[in-house]
Amino acid sequence: MTGSLKKLNTYFKKYLGTIILGSVFLVASNFFLVWIPIFIRRTIDEVAALESKGGGSFDGLAEVLFSSQAGAILAENALMLVGAVVASGLLLFATRQTLIVTSRKIEFDLRNDVFDKLLELPQRFFSEFNKGEIYVRATEDISKVREYFGPAFMYTVNTLSRAGFVIAMMIIVSPELTFWALLPLPLLSGFAYWISGYINTHSRIIQEQYSNVAGRAQEAFSSIRLIKAYNREDYEQNRFEDESESYRKKKLRLDLVESLFHPGLNFLIGISIILVIWKAGQYVIEGTLTIGNIVEFVVYVAYLTWPVASLGYTVNRFQRSMASWNRVDQVLTEKVEISDNNRTDQSVKEIEGSIEFVDVSFKYPGAEVYAVKNINLKVNAGQNVAIVGRTGSGKSTLVQLIPRLFDPTKGTILIDDIDIKTIPVKKLRAEIGFVPQDTFLFSDSIGENIAFGTEEASEEQIHAAAEKAQVRENIMDFDKKFETMLGERGITLSGGQKQRTAIARALIRDPKIIILDDSLSAVDTKTEEAILQHLREELKGRTTIMISHRISTIKDADIIYYMEEGTIKEHGTHDELLQKKGRYSAMYKKQLLEEELAEI
Ligand code: ATP
Ligand code: MG
Repeated sequence: MTGSLKKLNTYFKKYLGTIILGSVFLVASNFFLVWIPIFIRRTIDEVAALESKGGGSFDGLAEVLFSSQAGAILAENALMLVGAVVASGLLLFATRQTLIVTSRKIEFDLRNDVFDKLLELPQRFFSEFNKGEIYVRATEDISKVREYFGPAFMYTVNTLSRAGFVIAMMIIVSPELTFWALLPLPLLSGFAYWISGYINTHSRIIQEQYSNVAGRAQEAFSSIRLIKAYNREDYEQNRFEDESESYRKKKLRLDLVESLFHPGLNFLIGISIILVIWKAGQYVIEGTLTIGNIVEFVVYVAYLTWPVASLGYTVNRFQRSMASWNRVDQVLTEKVEISDNNRTDQSVKEIEGSIEFVDVSFKYPGAEVYAVKNINLKVNAGQNVAIVGRTGSGKSTLVQLIPRLFDPTKGTILIDDIDIKTIPVKKLRAEIGFVPQDTFLFSDSIGENIAFGTEEASEEQIHAAAEKAQVRENIMDFDKKFETMLGERGITLSGGQKQRTAIARALIRDPKIIILDDSLSAVDTKTEEAILQHLREELKGRTTIMISHRISTIKDADIIYYMEEGTIKEHGTHDELLQKKGRYSAMYKKQLLEEELAEI
């Protein structure tokens, strides 16, 4: 905790100058503030002195007030008072412009650091935490940490400096009265602490409930087709109403407590002021204080109440900031185990593309069983390899290990006979064109989606990649061609178009190794055949790993690996495997039969 606080404070360092300046502004603002009651007291006392000379009658008072002597006193004090008010106000403005603005800048720095770190984190991290949780850490938690740098810091400086000045002035006037005036203030602070604690806890619960309401609505809208097709409008409506009702109840309870906050505070302030007037009245009768002193003291008490109340509030905010910081810090200190380490050999030259698995086994984080076990395979540079097997047999898991999306639990993977752990991660991934099984396209233009594959892509390169993936013609049929927007505000591509766009994205990288995970599953067998013929030309010279459920897709591969339950059961060419009359050949016969039946 303390170590992590130290790290948090390093964010202060960059802006130390501004923060000190802001604090000086704040102290100075409070310095001018304490002069205001002094001028008020002076005015009252000096006018009262004149009035007593004037005889004390009503006529006498009016005379005094409009006399030139009184006018001069009033004008002088009024001028000083206005001066103090303006100076204090301007300094307060400067304080906010420095301290709060700085806290926003720190928030910006912190958010960027967290986002950078998140992008760096291994796949493992994302399978441990759900997306919502990660999202909250990168957004809400960081906003709460900001309160530590902004409001919490500002209120602390404010309370300390104001209390210092005000209490000093009070003691100068009357130490005894100061004691009576300060007496109820701890109560005020305690009350504010208690109530803001309640508000915080309940705000969090309400926030969570609100996420449920929003989540329910979001899910309903994204599955709107399903809801309509299944006539489930009423059902969805009821589910939404339940969440919404629970939100309303919780919110109303919080509103009740919140509406107690100010009246409660005012009540305690009232007690404090009554105490001051009552005691001060006695001193005035005794002749040790003036009427002006009473007014002065009441203003001092008023000055103290908010900073003292905010003390309780600040402690609460601080606690909340710390809880958020711990969550953010967890992300920042999370180990990036898949990164370059001192074993990395930066001198690795061009990658040729041979791949070898030596006794590789892998277990997903938190899983009990191995998803792939004791895998041994060797692919020469430029070879075309296929992996087939039933669903869940471990095909996708196996290929994810090549670009190090995960590291094997046991065993080694070699590329060009070099352990991939010693190749710089960026270099390794730059040589691999990976088309994952679940195609993801961004809500952006088709062109941008293809260009995503590489750092910079010219229009010609984008067109060429689309052509290679056999999707260019489809794209040219759209009104806006490559500028066509996809996603929420755009069009939806067909399954097959999506897959081919994803292939184009991988091809634009011009990689040495290309991995296609069931990338043509959404097109029919005839179209697939046409695409493959073309693609084979393009893939010549590259090491290709193709996963498929359909044997027809991969029967021309140089080697075929047949997987079952995480292990390779058979391997060889298509003809060799058929001769073996094993599982592969059984699967092939079944598929042939299905195809024949489908054609009837
Ligand atoms: P398909 O042909 O359906 O794509 P596959 O051969 O690609 O299947 P994998 O996706 O590699 O199969 O899955 C192998 C096993 O690992 C399955 O039992 C699956 O449930 C499990 N698995 C896959 N992804 C994860 C994950 N992120 N966490 C835990 N287990 C996983
Ligand atoms: Mg798969």
